[in-house]
Amino acid sequence: MVQLYHPIGTNPFNDDKLHDECGVFGLHGHPDAAVHTALGLHALQHRGQEAAGIVSFDGTHFHSHRSLGNVGDHFSNASVIEQLSGYAAIGHVRYSTSGETVLRNVQPLFADLAGGGLAIAHNGNITNAKGLRRELEERGSIFQSTMDTEVIVHLIATGKEAGLVEKLIDALCRLNGAYALVIQTHEALIGARDPHGVRPLILGELDGGHILCSESCALDIIGANFIRDVKPGEVVVIDDKGVHSLQPFPKSVAQRFCVFEYIYFARPDSVVEGVNVYHARKRIGAELAREHGVNADVVVPVPDSGVPGAIGYSEQAGIPFDLGIIRNHYVGRTFIEPTDSIRHLGVRLKHNANRAALLGRRVVLIDDSIVRGTTSIKIVELVRAAGAKEVHMRVASPPTTHSCFYGVDTPTRDQLLASQMDVAAMAVHIGVDSLAFISIDGMYRAMGHEHRTPDRPQFCDACFTGDYPIELTDQLGGEDIAQLSFLDEAT
Ligand code: SF4
Repeated sequence: MVQLYHPIGTNPFNDDKLHDECGVFGLHGHPDAAVHTALGLHALQHRGQEAAGIVSFDGTHFHSHRSLGNVGDHFSNASVIEQLSGYAAIGHVRYSTSGETVLRNVQPLFADLAGGGLAIAHNGNITNAKGLRRELEERGSIFQSTMDTEVIVHLIATGKEAGLVEKLIDALCRLNGAYALVIQTHEALIGARDPHGVRPLILGELDGGHILCSESCALDIIGANFIRDVKPGEVVVIDDKGVHSLQPFPKSVAQRFCVFEYIYFARPDSVVEGVNVYHARKRIGAELAREHGVNADVVVPVPDSGVPGAIGYSEQAGIPFDLGIIRNHYVGRTFIEPTDSIRHLGVRLKHNANRAALLGRRVVLIDDSIVRGTTSIKIVELVRAAGAKEVHMRVASPPTTHSCFYGVDTPTRDQLLASQMDVAAMAVHIGVDSLAFISIDGMYRAMGHEHRTPDRPQFCDACFTGDYPIELTDQLGGEDIAQLSFLDEAT
């Protein structure tokens, strides 16, 4: 049987990375809103590859198309785009733990409320969604999906305030968690970020229309102009009269943007929170070289995410950069499940060692992170089999010791290699001659700070420190985190 989706940990193409679980895009005030939204989602495909959806609004009716699979699988079809008529559209790409991916969980969600239709797309995770859902169900709400995003819809639907924006703000004030939302109503496109600003959301402009999206690469693909980041805790309402900014939350809330966006999630050609991701990764690589130099002949990235860090390391260390591992870009999540006879090939289907760059050389392998360590073991085996004399691994993030509950697909702690062993034991486990990670303060230095400020850290770094900036209300409710299937539906 052909099977396209794999429970996490069983997918032979699993790259052993944390995965951002969603990307969002919205455009208001453009005659080709849907087609630009499809292109924007295509640029955000790296943020979610399991489902995509667009809802458009033509001034009278909403139109919706949601599918499992990649954006290009469905939204390059002219007849699909033609159905999505209107001057406004929002879209969403989704990654999930895949066994749970069913069409009813694909966004944007749409609801016909008393005050008019509402479509919503969400990147993040609501950490008190379980309790809110229980409360809403006790009051008679009937849920159609298992997504935390639907809790927001029901809070708006049952809100006592007069207007839709007021109901939304009332709903947001009840949420804990991380969210970047784009919402289309019959009157406006609305964007909102949680008060800590964990997940990114930016504002752009195209031909007089306005855009909200996760990353600037989604503006570049359609030739749109960057205006600014939506501020943490800001609600932006975009209607025919322009952009209106509301700040419903106290200004004292500390900003804690996800530092992993710079390490891995965001595309290197994006600028998020005013920082170019490519430059950030190069600076992290350079800092890694300052902290953990090694005598070697060549710096080799684990492609693709290790490339900018390896360039930075190479430049700082004065050791030549070379492509010692070649990635096959045509093997991905849409590849059919292989037969048992080729399953053992595993990582070789995606990566191959370039013997010409490795034979007889002392190699520094640069990767952006180590999660379970499963891919690292196989990559090191490949590099050794290609004749490398020594293999040293340098990692452009601190050890990942904790799970993320803010919209990122993470294994439970017991599956995170760095939570189970120290660096020396990890080196033996992975099979390298030496292993080192950038320090927490080194990472902060690369991001332009002198060091991490312990009482008011500049970023969310909880997966490295366990210092969770937003209350984990559901998770701390006495339940076993690993058993909370609802959490698996993070968006
Ligand atoms: Fe990002 Fe914080 Fe989640 Fe780590 S725990 S991935 S830093 S949001």
